[in-house]
Amino acid sequence: MNSMNIKRNILLNPGPATTTDTVKMAQVVPDICPREKEFQNVIKLIRSELVRIVHGDLDEYTAVLFCGSGTICMDAALNSLLDEGKKALVINNGSYSQRACDIVNYYGLPLIEVKQSIDRLPDLSVIEKVLKNNPDIGYVYMTHHETGTGLLNPIREVGALAHNYGAFFITDTTSSYAMIPINVYEDNIDFCMASAQKGIMGMTGLSYIIGKRNIIEESRKYPKHSYYCNLYMQYDFFEKSGEMHFTPPVQAVYAAKQALTEYWDEGEDAKWERHQRIMKAIHAGEDELGLKEALDRNIQSGLVSAIRYPDDPKWDFEKVHDYCYERGFTIYPGKIDTKKTFRLCALGAINEQDIMKFFITLKEAFQETGVTVPAIYKE
Ligand SMILES: *Cc1c(COP(=O)(O)O)cnc(C)c1O
Repeated sequence: MNSMNIKRNILLNPGPATTTDTVKMAQVVPDICPREKEFQNVIKLIRSELVRIVHGDLDEYTAVLFCGSGTICMDAALNSLLDEGKKALVINNGSYSQRACDIVNYYGLPLIEVKQSIDRLPDLSVIEKVLKNNPDIGYVYMTHHETGTGLLNPIREVGALAHNYGAFFITDTTSSYAMIPINVYEDNIDFCMASAQKGIMGMTGLSYIIGKRNIIEESRKYPKHSYYCNLYMQYDFFEKSGEMHFTPPVQAVYAAKQALTEYWDEGEDAKWERHQRIMKAIHAGEDELGLKEALDRNIQSGLVSAIRYPDDPKWDFEKVHDYCYERGFTIYPGKIDTKKTFRLCALGAINEQDIMKFFITLKEAFQETGVTVPAIYKE
């Protein structure tokens, strides 16, 4: 069984991403109890491959899997890695770092929030000043790629700052991992995280934290705030038994195994180059239709473009969305409170030809719904 006649949709939303047929098919396996050795071997392979993607040494770094969407990793990292008497520092410059602040607040943990503009690079001197004035900061948390806007944050510099002041560095790489090359040593990362439906182009339901073993082991004595989402407990169970603490998403695990094989077949650099070619095609399409973005291109990740709604009385996102959706292309609403935007993302098993075809459809959608081309903007 290696093919099925399944419609290929081009997902331009920020995950789940378009998958290959071989990854879809990898889910169709004989029923198996996840306690079997055969399944444990798959888990073991996946855990080491996930560390290898970010160039970690397996003696120093490990991958801890969770059954859940990407937010489960944010939750587990934020609530598990704070020692008694320590504070969390979150750099908040977008909707995903806002989510991180919400999580820390939800657990009632001490939070220092460094709020920064969502459409500019953060001011490192502000972050340094906060670190200098607060010697009790346990970890610094930053979103690598703010998926709401497409902003790429300077994790290497912020990780170095965190380490200079004796704090761990946690970064949410959910929408950059296995797309933008990441090296845990060069990028000063103690913990990063991702979800199988994004960078590796697998299925939803499997997410992972990749981080330093010695810190996880030390966190054994930190106060516990969650039973299901505790990093040490999940790690410890894997180490002792080779199994996930509770029932894993079996089929998503098999899909991830196949997706990782395809990741290495394509190659780290070639994959990143493909994502960049896709974004180049997205930018060219936008320019042709006169569409404007929320962010300067020089601070964009190369993976998400947030397009401002045209100031055109005929503009109707739902209508444009539906026209494209019926033709196999999914576009996605934005995540910026102050500006109406929609997003086009360069994730998944797609290429620049798909984007060119998409822009033909988008142009038709504009004509069909009466939106003026080139797009009208008042400012
Ligand atoms: C997708 C994403 C997440 C996780 O979102 P889920 O909906 O829980 O999968 C977390 N952080 C970032 C930056 C993301 O892009």
